[in-house]
Amino acid sequence: MAKKAYGLNTICTHIGEIQDEQFKGSVSPIYMSTSYQFEDVDIKRYPRYFNTPNQEFLAKKMAALEHAEAALIFGSGMAALSAMFLTFLKKGDHLVVQNTLYGGASNFIKEEFPKYGIEFTFTDGYQISDFERAIQPNTKVIHIETPSNPLLTITDIKGVAELAKSKGILSTIDNTFASPVNQNPIDFGIDVVMHSATKYIGGHSDILAGVLMASEDIINRVWHVARNYGGSLSDMTVWLLERSIKTLGLRVKAQNRNAKKMARFLENHDDVKSVNYPGLKSHPDYALAKSQMKGFGGMMSFELREGLDASIFQKQLQLIKSSMSLAGVESTMLSPHLTSHALLTQEERDKVGISNQLIRFSVGIESKNDLIHDIEQAIQRTKELVQVYM
Ligand code: PLP
Repeated sequence: MAKKAYGLNTICTHIGEIQDEQFKGSVSPIYMSTSYQFEDVDIKRYPRYFNTPNQEFLAKKMAALEHAEAALIFGSGMAALSAMFLTFLKKGDHLVVQNTLYGGASNFIKEEFPKYGIEFTFTDGYQISDFERAIQPNTKVIHIETPSNPLLTITDIKGVAELAKSKGILSTIDNTFASPVNQNPIDFGIDVVMHSATKYIGGHSDILAGVLMASEDIINRVWHVARNYGGSLSDMTVWLLERSIKTLGLRVKAQNRNAKKMARFLENHDDVKSVNYPGLKSHPDYALAKSQMKGFGGMMSFELREGLDASIFQKQLQLIKSSMSLAGVESTMLSPHLTSHALLTQEERDKVGISNQLIRFSVGIESKNDLIHDIEQAIQRTKELVQVYM
């Protein structure tokens, strides 16, 4: 009988385990050495070369999760993203990049690319025609983010992959918001998948890491560049990340369920003006999201109705933390204009629709009723404070 491919939770638990041959322990040992005796002259193990035992085995797990041939583990999402761009773009090349994008990535492109002589165009929107219009004769990479941070816009992954392929351009995606549980872009033809593993993959707000997944050939090309920049992850943290991923499937599915309930609750609330969540039928790209995502994720953003100040509201939360980052098992909220997208100008934020009232909500695994109660009491308290009477 042919061997059945493992299911998600089996991959999370068992793929990339290092067998403890010496003591038969149940979990992977950690190899902290920065110096390894030569097995043969071609294999030089060194943590900055991304090839210690823990780094190599975790890469197998990540590759399996994203249906890729190979992976590289980095010290942060930005280390992964910068290594990816600087491998495939050189002086005189051009990048087409989605306009609704994580602020740090936009910033990297705008601040660093001119120093390398790399050209770029931010699209006017996230429809296929917007990407097509932005392509130039020297375009080498098209980069997308879907669902995007913080507006949860949905880009047609297959459409972008096909467009890129038809023109001989590499397609790359930031898949952080979806996580490999909810979306596997390689199945739709995307060449390189990138994650900030600081988010769902780590999942406990205690690890900074990044990861790239692609074909053997692409990962090999990135490896040659990345070992020069030095952005690998320490083996202790690689080991912690492997442990975190054992519950990735369970955590993200619980977050999907909670988020759907929270999105419906917010959408039906009189004091909420709008909700951006791809799992709501009111989302403009609900059908597209449904066709390319297995779950709608734990991220959303919303605006309270006029007069209910977003900052005052967040200060009233008692259970949900108003804090940076996202995707941990604990629920968090923040104002993108003050944090993730603070480096964009007001004009740039207005253009894509990031208002000062927008609140990004990362839904955790807490009991739904407790989250609802916290939001409800914070709204009531905000009303009292801003003296808005019904
Ligand atoms: N991509 C997205 C969508 C993010 O939200 C972030 C961080 O918030 C990053 C990339 C950067 O990842 P890191 O902070 O791990 O460098």
